[in-house]
Amino acid sequence: MLKRCYICNLKQKNIVMAIMITDECINCGACEPECPNNAIYEGGAEWKYSDGTTLKGIITTLDGEDILADKPFEPVDMDVYFIAHDKCTECVGFHDEPQCAAVCPVDCCVDDPNYRETEDELLAKKSFLHL
Ligand code: SF4
Ligand code: SF4
Repeated sequence: MLKRCYICNLKQKNIVMAIMITDECINCGACEPECPNNAIYEGGAEWKYSDGTTLKGIITTLDGEDILADKPFEPVDMDVYFIAHDKCTECVGFHDEPQCAAVCPVDCCVDDPNYRETEDELLAKKSFLHL
């Protein structure tokens, strides 16, 4: 019997995976300016909700935490570019496909099996980031 791959099954159920950058990244920087949410950072850089979004002052995150939008968070990776998951909408609401993956010359922007969000959740994240 022909089996459907599990990623296809998830997409059919409107469940998509977040994007992550692997260690194969060559630090070319091509993806960073393409991200509509400013979710991509150079290795070792602190990330903030306020970078490239309309968030400012005290915000309530989608996890229900009250924080300053300018609060710096630890880098996710010290050596290569990384994606701040809390700011990645997989380009939903902006583009038909993840722009980082589209421009990456070494195809190291891949699905992250640890994060799965529905399209509605991604649209809610987009609305949260861009009032
Ligand atoms: Fe940014 Fe889109 Fe890549 Fe997510 S998938 S990091 S929103 S360019
Ligand atoms: Fe790394 Fe690819 Fe982004 Fe270049 S485009 S910085 S190789 S993830």
